Amino acid sequence: MPILPAEPLQIVEPRVPALGRPAHGRNDTRRNLVGLARADLKQALVEAGLEPFRAQQVWQWVYWHGLTDFERMTNIARKTRERLTELFVIDRPQIVTEQRSSDGTRKWLLRFGDGNEAETVNIPEEDRGSVCVSSQVGCTLTCSFCHTGTQPLVRNLSPADIVGQFMVARDSYGEWPTPTETTRMLSNIVMMGMGEPLYNFDNVSTALKIVMDEQGIALSRRRITLSTSGIVPMIARVGAELDVNLAVSLHAVNDETRDTLVPVNRKWPIAELLAACAAYPGARNSRRITFEYVMLKGVNDSDADARELVRLLTPLHAKVNLIPFNAWPGAPYECSSNNRIHRFAEIVNAGGISAPVRTPRGRDILAACGQLKSTSLRDRRTKVSDVEAAAGA
Ligand code: SAH
Ligand code: SF4
Repeated sequence: MPILPAEPLQIVEPRVPALGRPAHGRNDTRRNLVGLARADLKQALVEAGLEPFRAQQVWQWVYWHGLTDFERMTNIARKTRERLTELFVIDRPQIVTEQRSSDGTRKWLLRFGDGNEAETVNIPEEDRGSVCVSSQVGCTLTCSFCHTGTQPLVRNLSPADIVGQFMVARDSYGEWPTPTETTRMLSNIVMMGMGEPLYNFDNVSTALKIVMDEQGIALSRRRITLSTSGIVPMIARVGAELDVNLAVSLHAVNDETRDTLVPVNRKWPIAELLAACAAYPGARNSRRITFEYVMLKGVNDSDADARELVRLLTPLHAKVNLIPFNAWPGAPYECSSNNRIHRFAEIVNAGGISAPVRTPRGRDILAACGQLKSTSLRDRRTKVSDVEAAAGA
């Protein structure tokens, strides 16, 4: 377990990873090996005149041992190490700030090579820790309850940016070499940070295949969850290529309400979304699809909404995560009352669908669902107290 700070909000000086981060200047033109699919890594090394089998060795040093320095690759001859150093780097996003919440949540603001920034969060629980990874800087979608949605898309994150987020988290917890499944703190990845992963699918797919590789970071697909706002035509590809757990941001039980909350619903309405979910591999038997449902006072939280949710989801093998709305400055909604949320949960549970209420995590450092927004565009003065005022706390 991480040591919990005494203060509710602690900004920790960016830490140098245990294994040393090479100082790459702006003019450094060496190619980053992180984020290359296995085949591309091999090709890059072969083009540099190295033997193809070096790719396997480098892969294990990078993703199993977490090395950032070729000099420490002891099974590779000195001349080859020098050649590698000349042409390549093993890079991480730069940590701008690391914040720790009083509940143990850690949030990193990361800066990528081009100066863009995104946030990554680790949410520790008793028996695991879920790292919430971003897929884009900003988002093209404009869900009206989401802080990220107020920030236009700046760019898609590359495979290196995406894998790099998880590697920074591992650096921070000192989890190199890859610990066994049962001993690791960082056991899960949820693609629930900034951005819509299915609008950046190729990069997300390359990145997730890298983290699933058993000779590297070795996270099994059962420990990865991809959350989508409902990009229907892409859902089948997620199943076919990655077969990770699927989470769907449903948030409403009729198209009229969902059109206003998740505007992409106008393109792919609820019936089409649920049909794509029903066709997801494993959806009808052992594996359940998670439906996220944000609780918004007077908008989607009535008893009738709960009953309709049961009716819609009964044909699927589904689970509902009820997320109390996390406020942000200027948000046009309020969170439903505790009583309302629990009554809603009771109805859904009684209908035979598990509906846990998600305890908000890391609210004091704006790390909770929907609160992420990169400072590339954010007013840097936004403070926790502003958010609490907006939440009526
Ligand atoms: N773009 C993807 C994944 C990122 S959002 C998606 O929309 O699914 C991760 C989850 O946080 C989604 O379910 C999203 O709807 C939810 N969320 C966004 N803003 C929120 C807020 N202010 N309070 C609570 N949940 C929020
Ligand atoms: Fe984008 Fe997801 Fe936020 Fe919607 S909820 S604006 S899809 S990040």
